Amino acid sequence: MNIIRSGRLFEEAQKYIPGGVNSPVRAFKSVGGKPLFIKKGIGSKIYDVDGNEYVEYIGSWGPHLFGHNPPFIKKALLQAIENGTSFGAPTELEVKMAKLITEMVPSVEMVRMVNSGTEATMSAVRAARGYTKRDKFIKFEGCYHGHADHFLIKAGSGALTLGIPTSPGVTKANAADTLLADYNDIESVKKLVSANKGEIAAIIIEPIAGNMGVVAGSKEFLTELRVICNEEKIILIFDEVMTGFRVAKGGAQELLNIKPDLSTFGKIIGGGLPVGAFGGKKEIMEMIAPAGPVYQAGTLSGNPLAMAAGYAGLKYINDNPEIYKTLEEKSAYLEEGFRENLKEVNKNYALNRVGSMMCMFFTEKHVNDFQSAVTSDTGLYGKYFLEMLKRGIYLAPAQFEAVFVSTAHSTEDLDKTITAHLKALKAVLL
Ligand SMILES: *Cc1c(COP(=O)(O)O)cnc(C)c1O
Repeated sequence: MNIIRSGRLFEEAQKYIPGGVNSPVRAFKSVGGKPLFIKKGIGSKIYDVDGNEYVEYIGSWGPHLFGHNPPFIKKALLQAIENGTSFGAPTELEVKMAKLITEMVPSVEMVRMVNSGTEATMSAVRAARGYTKRDKFIKFEGCYHGHADHFLIKAGSGALTLGIPTSPGVTKANAADTLLADYNDIESVKKLVSANKGEIAAIIIEPIAGNMGVVAGSKEFLTELRVICNEEKIILIFDEVMTGFRVAKGGAQELLNIKPDLSTFGKIIGGGLPVGAFGGKKEIMEMIAPAGPVYQAGTLSGNPLAMAAGYAGLKYINDNPEIYKTLEEKSAYLEEGFRENLKEVNKNYALNRVGSMMCMFFTEKHVNDFQSAVTSDTGLYGKYFLEMLKRGIYLAPAQFEAVFVSTAHSTEDLDKTITAHLKALKAVLL
């Protein structure tokens, strides 16, 4: 594999950009490699600056449900750009977008667009605090809600991968109002709630966690969370930045049949452009300025290009709900192939999957929370990652991330991946 140009660019990038990248996990640090610089993506494949082709499963960390650069999103973008890039004034498409989101996700009665998942979760917690007039909130160990100060406490994703789940720069005061519970452990929540009676504004959770690898919240656990929130007048926030429009048209809340008070979105909702959104019950959302006193704003929020790409994607999903059946079939096929391979190498590694989100953990423990997830051998994952890359399969350069299957992955792609998986396992284990 020739990666000379990527190598040169990385050398230069490190001079001008911290660590050479604009988001940490991209740097391949935890897998002991050097990042590839990508030139283009088409469907299930990406191409680096040295001309290598990869079947890839990151999908820009979630947005690309239809693979790279699907023609209908490209067309929507080209049409939108004819009229200009940004006005800082309302546009018709924002209304259509908001209406479509409320139709697809019934718990969302009103929605505000922002520019990233981080902004969405940050603003949702602020809304919950403003509405309840309480300061504290509960988050779960291993869940990632973006990089706002109060979330960077035992956080997942890159923070976990790079061993900085609780970041320097986050003040004690900021951390003090963040209460930590254990995922899938209702007793840990009950303890916090009774020790902080009447002081908790919100419980925020990834209903299907995708940032400590893939770990599904059990229906029983999440149902009990809903009950506790009702009893204690705590706002339940489902962070569906990853799961929204991925696991079902209406997100994880549709699969689970549980209605949160607020939901946050990102990734797929922007069709590959920088977008996030938060929404939910009207009476909470009407707390947001200028309807109410909770301040929230954004120069580029509801940007016409982002709305065009996002709306095209959501509309496609809404008009073609059968894509979830296709995604399930493709993902199940991949999972089955991986399971066969694991049998062949005599390993009982945890392989978690919900729809098109999947993760193989290098541990034989049952993985259902943070503690079990971190029993994975991340060194082995790094070697496996590089072996896969060598065979033209581009996975997330970190153990605690998801494999995302898109509608663009062909049977040929999946077969190639399964073959590479067996060879990679053999290479790292034998
Ligand atoms: C990606 C992600 C975020 C952060 O979104 P950004 O757009 O990276 O700020 C928040 N929550 C979850 C669950 C995510 O997966």
